[in-house]
Amino acid sequence: MDTKILIIYTGGTIGMSRSEKGYAPKKGFLTELLKRIPALYDEAMPAWELYEMDPLLDSSNMTVLEWNLIGSVIEENYEEYDGFVILHGTDTMAYTASALSFSLENLQKPVIITGSQIPLFEVRNDGLDNLLTSMMIAGEGRIREVALCFANELYRGNRATKTSATDLHAFGSPNYPPLAKIGTSIVYNDMIPQRVCDEPFRVQKLEKIPIGIIKVFPGIQFELFEEIMSESLKGIVLETFGAGNIPGSADAILPIVRKAHENGTVLVICSQCLKGSVSLGTYETSSALKDAGAVCAYDMTTEAAVAKLYYLFSCGLSADEVKEKMEDSISGEITK
Ligand code: ASP
Repeated sequence: MDTKILIIYTGGTIGMSRSEKGYAPKKGFLTELLKRIPALYDEAMPAWELYEMDPLLDSSNMTVLEWNLIGSVIEENYEEYDGFVILHGTDTMAYTASALSFSLENLQKPVIITGSQIPLFEVRNDGLDNLLTSMMIAGEGRIREVALCFANELYRGNRATKTSATDLHAFGSPNYPPLAKIGTSIVYNDMIPQRVCDEPFRVQKLEKIPIGIIKVFPGIQFELFEEIMSESLKGIVLETFGAGNIPGSADAILPIVRKAHENGTVLVICSQCLKGSVSLGTYETSSALKDAGAVCAYDMTTEAAVAKLYYLFSCGLSADEVKEKMEDSISGEITK
Protein backbone atom coordinates (compact mmCIF):
# COMPACT_ATOMS: atom_id res chain seq x y z
CA MET A 1 0.00 0.00 0.00
CA ASP A 2 1.25 3.42 -0.89
CA THR A 3 0.16 5.18 2.27
CA LYS A 4 1.74 5.77 5.64
CA ILE A 5 0.04 5.51 9.00
CA LEU A 6 0.97 6.23 12.59
CA ILE A 7 0.16 3.63 15.24
CA ILE A 8 -0.28 5.19 18.67
CA TYR A 9 0.01 2.70 21.51
CA THR A 10 -1.66 3.98 24.68
CA GLY A 11 -1.60 0.72 26.68
CA GLY A 12 -4.31 -1.92 27.06
CA THR A 13 -4.32 -5.68 26.77
CA ILE A 14 -3.20 -5.85 23.15
CA GLY A 15 0.39 -4.93 23.98
CA MET A 16 0.52 -6.11 27.58
CA SER A 17 3.00 -8.61 28.98
CA ARG A 18 2.62 -10.95 31.94
CA SER A 19 3.57 -9.51 35.34
CA GLU A 20 3.39 -10.98 38.84
CA LYS A 21 0.08 -9.20 39.37
CA GLY A 22 -1.45 -10.19 36.03
CA TYR A 23 -1.35 -8.62 32.57
CA ALA A 24 0.18 -5.14 32.58
CA PRO A 25 1.58 -2.76 29.95
CA LYS A 26 5.40 -2.66 29.71
CA LYS A 27 7.53 -0.03 28.00
CA GLY A 28 9.04 -1.21 24.71
CA PHE A 29 7.35 -4.62 24.84
CA LEU A 30 4.98 -3.97 21.92
CA THR A 31 7.80 -2.52 19.79
CA GLU A 32 9.68 -5.79 20.14
CA LEU A 33 6.56 -7.87 19.46
CA LEU A 34 5.73 -6.01 16.25
CA LYS A 35 9.24 -6.65 14.90
CA ARG A 36 8.42 -10.36 14.92
CA ILE A 37 5.17 -10.15 12.89
CA PRO A 38 6.07 -10.57 9.18
CA ALA A 39 2.57 -9.58 7.98
CA LEU A 40 3.17 -6.04 9.21
CA TYR A 41 5.93 -5.61 6.64
CA ASP A 42 3.99 -7.10 3.72
CA GLU A 43 3.50 -4.83 0.73
CA ALA A 44 -0.28 -5.14 1.14
CA MET A 45 0.13 -3.10 4.33
CA PRO A 46 0.61 0.64 4.59
CA ALA A 47 4.01 1.87 5.77
CA TRP A 48 3.80 2.52 9.51
CA GLU A 49 5.55 3.92 12.50
CA LEU A 50 4.83 3.33 16.16
CA TYR A 51 4.43 6.03 18.78
CA GLU A 52 4.38 4.68 22.31
CA MET A 53 2.75 6.83 24.99
CA ASP A 54 4.50 7.32 28.29
CA PRO A 55 3.28 6.05 30.65
CA LEU A 56 1.37 3.16 29.08
CA LEU A 57 -1.96 2.67 30.80
CA ASP A 58 -4.55 0.11 31.52
CA SER A 59 -7.45 2.02 29.99
CA SER A 60 -9.31 2.04 33.32
CA ASN A 61 -6.86 4.83 34.20
CA MET A 62 -7.58 7.02 31.17
CA THR A 63 -8.65 10.59 31.85
CA VAL A 64 -9.21 13.70 29.74
CA LEU A 65 -5.47 14.35 30.03
CA GLU A 66 -4.70 11.20 28.03
CA TRP A 67 -7.45 12.04 25.52
CA ASN A 68 -5.67 15.38 25.07
CA LEU A 69 -2.29 13.66 24.68
CA ILE A 70 -3.65 11.39 21.95
CA GLY A 71 -5.17 14.47 20.31
CA SER A 72 -1.83 16.31 20.41
CA VAL A 73 0.04 13.39 18.85
CA ILE A 74 -2.50 13.29 16.01
CA GLU A 75 -2.36 17.08 15.63
CA GLU A 76 1.45 17.15 15.44
CA ASN A 77 1.53 14.34 12.90
CA TYR A 78 -1.65 15.10 10.95
CA GLU A 79 0.01 16.27 7.75
CA GLU A 80 2.71 13.60 7.70
CA TYR A 81 0.46 10.52 7.89
CA ASP A 82 -2.54 9.33 5.87
CA GLY A 83 -4.25 7.72 8.83
CA PHE A 84 -3.94 6.78 12.48
CA VAL A 85 -4.45 3.59 14.48
CA ILE A 86 -4.85 3.94 18.23
CA LEU A 87 -4.12 0.82 20.27
CA HIS A 88 -6.14 1.08 23.46
CA GLY A 89 -7.54 -1.02 26.29
CA THR A 90 -11.07 -2.21 25.74
CA ASP A 91 -12.48 -1.11 29.10
CA THR A 92 -12.79 2.58 28.25
CA MET A 93 -12.25 2.39 24.50
CA ALA A 94 -15.79 3.57 23.73
CA TYR A 95 -15.29 6.64 25.97
CA THR A 96 -12.02 7.56 24.24
CA ALA A 97 -13.52 6.96 20.80
CA SER A 98 -16.45 9.23 21.72
CA ALA A 99 -14.21 11.94 23.17
CA LEU A 100 -11.95 11.99 20.10
CA SER A 101 -14.97 12.04 17.78
CA PHE A 102 -15.76 15.46 19.28
CA SER A 103 -12.31 16.87 20.03
CA LEU A 104 -10.74 16.08 16.63
CA GLU A 105 -12.61 18.79 14.78
CA ASN A 106 -12.92 18.76 10.98
CA LEU A 107 -11.20 15.39 10.80
CA GLN A 108 -10.65 14.23 7.24
CA LYS A 109 -8.45 11.18 7.81
CA PRO A 110 -9.12 7.76 9.36
CA VAL A 111 -8.58 7.46 13.10
CA ILE A 112 -9.16 3.80 13.92
CA ILE A 113 -9.17 2.71 17.53
CA THR A 114 -8.68 -0.95 18.40
CA GLY A 115 -7.28 -3.36 20.98
CA SER A 116 -7.90 -6.92 22.02
CA GLN A 117 -9.26 -9.22 24.66
CA ILE A 118 -6.15 -11.45 24.60
CA PRO A 119 -2.64 -9.95 24.42
CA LEU A 120 -0.71 -10.22 21.17
CA PHE A 121 2.06 -12.22 22.82
CA GLU A 122 -0.31 -15.12 23.56
CA VAL A 123 -0.38 -17.85 20.90
CA ARG A 124 -4.15 -17.65 20.56
CA ASN A 125 -5.10 -13.99 20.43
CA ASP A 126 -7.54 -11.61 18.78
CA GLY A 127 -5.07 -8.74 18.70
CA LEU A 128 -3.34 -9.61 15.45
CA ASP A 129 -6.51 -9.61 13.35
CA ASN A 130 -7.75 -6.42 14.98
CA LEU A 131 -4.40 -4.74 14.38
CA LEU A 132 -3.97 -5.83 10.76
CA THR A 133 -7.54 -4.91 9.82
CA SER A 134 -7.34 -1.52 11.52
CA MET A 135 -4.06 -0.75 9.77
CA MET A 136 -5.54 -1.63 6.39
CA ILE A 137 -8.61 0.52 7.00
CA ALA A 138 -6.42 3.42 8.16
CA GLY A 139 -4.22 2.96 5.08
CA GLU A 140 -7.14 2.78 2.65
CA GLY A 141 -8.36 6.22 3.75
CA ARG A 142 -12.06 5.77 3.02
CA ILE A 143 -13.10 6.51 6.59
CA ARG A 144 -12.83 10.16 7.61
CA GLU A 145 -13.89 9.92 11.21
CA VAL A 146 -13.05 8.24 14.51
CA ALA A 147 -14.06 4.58 14.19
CA LEU A 148 -13.69 1.56 16.43
CA CYS A 149 -12.57 -1.67 14.80
CA PHE A 150 -13.11 -4.90 16.69
CA ALA A 151 -13.84 -8.52 15.81
CA ASN A 152 -14.42 -7.90 12.12
CA GLU A 153 -16.72 -4.92 12.46
CA LEU A 154 -16.03 -1.23 12.14
CA TYR A 155 -18.25 1.05 14.20
CA ARG A 156 -18.70 4.79 14.41
CA GLY A 157 -16.61 5.56 17.52
CA ASN A 158 -19.29 7.51 19.38
CA ARG A 159 -21.89 4.76 18.77
CA ALA A 160 -19.83 1.89 20.12
CA THR A 161 -20.16 0.32 23.53
CA LYS A 162 -18.36 -2.55 25.24
CA THR A 163 -20.85 -5.40 25.51
CA SER A 164 -18.73 -8.29 26.77
CA ALA A 165 -15.90 -8.70 29.25
CA THR A 166 -14.90 -12.05 27.81
CA ASP A 167 -16.19 -12.59 24.25
CA LEU A 168 -13.80 -11.75 21.47
CA HIS A 169 -16.77 -9.97 19.92
CA ALA A 170 -16.57 -7.42 22.71
CA PHE A 171 -18.27 -4.37 21.20
CA GLY A 172 -21.54 -3.46 19.63
CA SER A 173 -23.15 -0.42 18.07
CA PRO A 174 -26.79 -1.07 18.95
CA ASN A 175 -28.21 2.12 17.50
CA TYR A 176 -26.16 2.56 14.35
CA PRO A 177 -25.11 0.17 11.60
CA PRO A 178 -21.44 -0.76 11.21
CA LEU A 179 -19.39 1.51 8.93
CA ALA A 180 -17.86 -1.64 7.46
CA LYS A 181 -18.01 -5.40 7.81
CA ILE A 182 -14.89 -7.43 7.48
CA GLY A 183 -15.17 -10.86 5.89
CA THR A 184 -13.13 -12.15 3.03
CA SER A 185 -12.82 -8.48 2.15
CA ILE A 186 -13.48 -5.15 3.84
CA VAL A 187 -16.96 -4.05 2.77
CA TYR A 188 -17.72 -0.41 3.56
CA ASN A 189 -21.32 0.63 4.10
CA ASP A 190 -21.88 3.09 1.25
CA MET A 191 -25.19 4.16 2.76
CA ILE A 192 -23.20 6.01 5.41
CA PRO A 193 -21.62 9.03 3.73
CA GLN A 194 -18.33 10.29 5.10
CA ARG A 195 -18.23 13.97 5.94
CA VAL A 196 -16.40 16.28 3.57
CA CYS A 197 -15.12 19.39 5.26
CA ASP A 198 -12.96 22.29 4.09
CA GLU A 199 -12.28 23.75 7.49
CA PRO A 200 -8.78 23.17 8.84
CA PHE A 201 -8.28 20.26 11.22
CA ARG A 202 -7.97 21.31 14.85
CA VAL A 203 -8.02 19.65 18.23
CA GLN A 204 -10.18 21.03 21.02
CA LYS A 205 -8.42 20.56 24.36
CA LEU A 206 -10.67 18.95 26.94
CA GLU A 207 -10.85 20.08 30.54
CA LYS A 208 -11.48 18.13 33.74
CA ILE A 209 -15.12 19.20 33.91
CA PRO A 210 -16.88 17.95 37.08
CA ILE A 211 -19.64 15.66 35.82
CA GLY A 212 -21.37 12.53 37.08
CA ILE A 213 -23.55 9.57 36.17
CA ILE A 214 -26.47 8.28 38.24
CA LYS A 215 -28.04 4.97 37.31
CA VAL A 216 -31.60 4.66 38.58
CA PHE A 217 -32.82 1.39 40.10
CA PRO A 218 -36.00 0.16 41.76
CA GLY A 219 -36.29 1.81 45.15
CA ILE A 220 -33.69 4.53 44.49
CA GLN A 221 -33.83 7.23 47.16
CA PHE A 222 -33.26 10.36 45.14
CA GLU A 223 -32.90 12.49 48.26
CA LEU A 224 -29.56 10.76 48.96
CA PHE A 225 -28.19 12.37 45.80
CA GLU A 226 -29.23 15.90 46.69
CA GLU A 227 -25.89 16.41 48.45
CA ILE A 228 -23.85 15.92 45.29
CA MET A 229 -25.94 18.38 43.29
CA SER A 230 -23.62 21.23 44.17
CA GLU A 231 -22.83 24.34 42.18
CA SER A 232 -19.54 22.84 41.02
CA LEU A 233 -21.29 19.96 39.25
CA LYS A 234 -21.56 20.99 35.61
CA GLY A 235 -23.42 18.04 34.19
CA ILE A 236 -25.06 14.82 35.23
CA VAL A 237 -26.11 11.88 33.10
CA LEU A 238 -29.15 10.09 34.49
CA GLU A 239 -29.35 6.52 33.20
CA THR A 240 -33.08 5.88 33.29
CA PHE A 241 -35.30 2.90 32.53
CA GLY A 242 -36.52 2.31 28.99
CA ALA A 243 -37.52 5.44 27.11
CA GLY A 244 -36.53 7.79 29.95
CA ASN A 245 -38.60 6.62 32.88
CA ILE A 246 -37.76 7.11 36.54
CA PRO A 247 -39.16 5.24 39.52
CA GLY A 248 -41.41 6.82 42.12
CA SER A 249 -43.52 9.91 41.92
CA ALA A 250 -42.31 13.05 40.23
CA ASP A 251 -42.07 14.60 43.71
CA ALA A 252 -39.17 12.31 44.55
CA ILE A 253 -36.83 13.54 41.84
CA LEU A 254 -38.03 17.12 41.55
CA PRO A 255 -35.85 18.52 44.37
CA ILE A 256 -32.79 17.19 42.52
CA VAL A 257 -33.91 18.51 39.19
CA ARG A 258 -34.71 21.88 40.73
CA LYS A 259 -31.32 22.05 42.40
CA ALA A 260 -29.63 21.15 39.13
CA HIS A 261 -31.56 23.92 37.41
CA GLU A 262 -30.68 26.51 40.07
CA ASN A 263 -27.00 25.58 39.97
CA GLY A 264 -26.82 25.51 36.19
CA THR A 265 -26.10 21.77 36.12
CA VAL A 266 -27.08 20.16 32.83
CA LEU A 267 -29.18 17.04 33.44
CA VAL A 268 -28.97 14.57 30.54
CA ILE A 269 -31.40 11.68 30.25
CA CYS A 270 -29.95 8.47 28.77
CA SER A 271 -31.46 4.99 28.76
CA GLN A 272 -30.16 1.86 30.47
CA CYS A 273 -31.31 -0.05 27.39
CA LEU A 274 -28.66 -0.68 24.79
CA LYS A 275 -31.09 -0.16 21.96
CA GLY A 276 -33.71 2.44 21.16
CA SER A 277 -34.23 6.04 22.08
CA VAL A 278 -35.25 8.17 25.05
CA SER A 279 -38.55 9.93 24.47
CA LEU A 280 -39.43 12.20 27.37
CA GLY A 281 -43.13 12.61 28.03
CA THR A 282 -44.24 9.35 26.45
CA TYR A 283 -45.00 8.02 29.93
CA GLU A 284 -46.14 9.86 33.00
CA THR A 285 -42.97 8.58 34.67
CA SER A 286 -40.78 10.70 32.42
CA SER A 287 -42.90 13.81 32.09
CA ALA A 288 -41.48 15.36 35.28
CA LEU A 289 -38.05 15.31 33.68
CA LYS A 290 -39.38 16.90 30.55
CA ASP A 291 -41.25 19.62 32.42
CA ALA A 292 -38.13 20.40 34.45
CA GLY A 293 -36.05 21.06 31.35
CA ALA A 294 -33.87 17.96 31.39
CA VAL A 295 -31.94 17.22 28.19
CA CYS A 296 -33.06 14.26 26.11
CA ALA A 297 -30.10 12.18 24.89
CA TYR A 298 -32.29 10.32 22.36
CA ASP A 299 -30.29 7.22 21.28
CA MET A 300 -26.90 8.48 22.43
CA THR A 301 -24.76 6.06 24.44
CA THR A 302 -23.81 7.03 27.99
CA GLU A 303 -20.18 7.06 26.83
CA ALA A 304 -20.98 9.60 24.13
CA ALA A 305 -23.11 11.71 26.49
CA VAL A 306 -20.29 11.89 29.04
CA ALA A 307 -17.67 12.73 26.39
CA LYS A 308 -19.96 15.34 24.83
CA LEU A 309 -20.46 17.08 28.17
CA TYR A 310 -16.66 17.25 28.62
CA TYR A 311 -16.31 18.60 25.11
CA LEU A 312 -19.07 21.21 25.11
CA PHE A 313 -18.11 22.68 28.48
CA SER A 314 -14.43 22.68 27.38
CA CYS A 315 -15.51 24.80 24.39
CA GLY A 316 -16.53 27.44 26.93
CA LEU A 317 -20.28 27.24 26.28
CA SER A 318 -22.85 28.32 28.87
CA ALA A 319 -25.15 25.74 30.48
CA ASP A 320 -28.00 26.83 28.20
CA GLU A 321 -25.84 26.47 25.09
CA VAL A 322 -24.64 23.06 26.27
CA LYS A 323 -28.26 21.96 26.77
CA GLU A 324 -29.14 22.98 23.25
CA LYS A 325 -26.16 21.29 21.65
CA MET A 326 -26.57 18.10 23.69
CA GLU A 327 -29.82 17.42 21.83
CA ASP A 328 -28.28 17.96 18.39
CA SER A 329 -25.98 15.58 16.59
CA ILE A 330 -22.58 17.19 16.18
CA SER A 331 -20.55 14.16 15.20
CA GLY A 332 -23.12 11.57 14.17
CA GLU A 333 -23.79 10.48 17.75
CA ILE A 334 -27.60 10.94 17.69
CA THR A 335 -30.39 9.82 15.39
CA LYS A 336 -33.60 11.68 16.13
N1 ASP B 1 -8.10 -3.65 31.44
C1 ASP B 1 -7.76 -3.63 30.04
C2 ASP B 1 -7.81 -2.20 29.55
O1 ASP B 1 -8.85 -1.69 29.30
C3 ASP B 1 -8.70 -4.50 29.27
C4 ASP B 1 -8.40 -4.61 27.80
O2 ASP B 1 -7.56 -3.95 27.23
O3 ASP B 1 -9.08 -5.43 27.15
O4 ASP B 1 -6.79 -1.59 29.43
